Amino acid sequence: KPCSVGRILRNIVTKTEPIASGKKIAVVCDIPDDLPDVSADREMISRAAENLIGNALKYTPEKGEINISVKKTGERLLLVSVKDNGRGIAEADLPHIFERYRRGRNQQGDVKGTGLGLAIAKKIISRHGGEIWANSRPGEGSEFLFTLPLSF
Ligand code: ATP
Ligand code: MG
Repeated sequence: KPCSVGRILRNIVTKTEPIASGKKIAVVCDIPDDLPDVSADREMISRAAENLIGNALKYTPEKGEINISVKKTGERLLLVSVKDNGRGIAEADLPHIFERYRRGRNQQGDVKGTGLGLAIAKKIISRHGGEIWANSRPGEGSEFLFTLPLSF
C-alpha cells in the first residue's frame, strides 16, 4: 500500500500539538510535500513515528526544540529524522535503548514509560526493510533516524 510519510508525520505533529504547546516546545518541520510515497502499512509507520516524536516531547524540557525532517537519500530511500535538544542519553545506555523494557538510567522516576516504544519501532521499521538508529549526547539532545525504501 503506497503511503505518504510526510502526511503521517504532519498528522502526528497536529495530534501532539497540545503537549508541545503545554511545554512551550517549538516543533519545527522540514517536510517537503513532493516526496514520493513508500510502500508500507500506514498504521505501523505511524505508530513507530509516534513513539519517536512522543519520546522527543517527553525527554525535552520546557522551551526546548524538536526538529522533524524527511528527505530522499540515495536513489530509493526516505530518511526521517526526529531531533530534540533535550536531556540526551547516557553513552552506556545508547547501545541498549532499542531493547525491550530498556529505559535509560537518567530517565526513570520522573518520566513514565514501559521501555517498549523503541523496540516496537525497530521491529516495524525492520519489517519494512528500513533501518533505525540514534545519536545522542547527554545534556545536549538526541536524534533518531530511520529509513524506508521507496516504492517503485
Ligand atoms: P514507552 O515508549 O514504552 O512508553 P519509553 O519511552 O521509556 O517507554 P522507549 O521509547 O523504548 O521507552 O525508549 C527507551 C529509552 O530510551 C527511554 O526510556 C529513554 O531512556 C531513552 N530515550 C528514548 N528517546 C529519547 C529521547 N528523545 N531523549 C532522551 N532519551 C530518550
Ligand atoms: Mg517511548
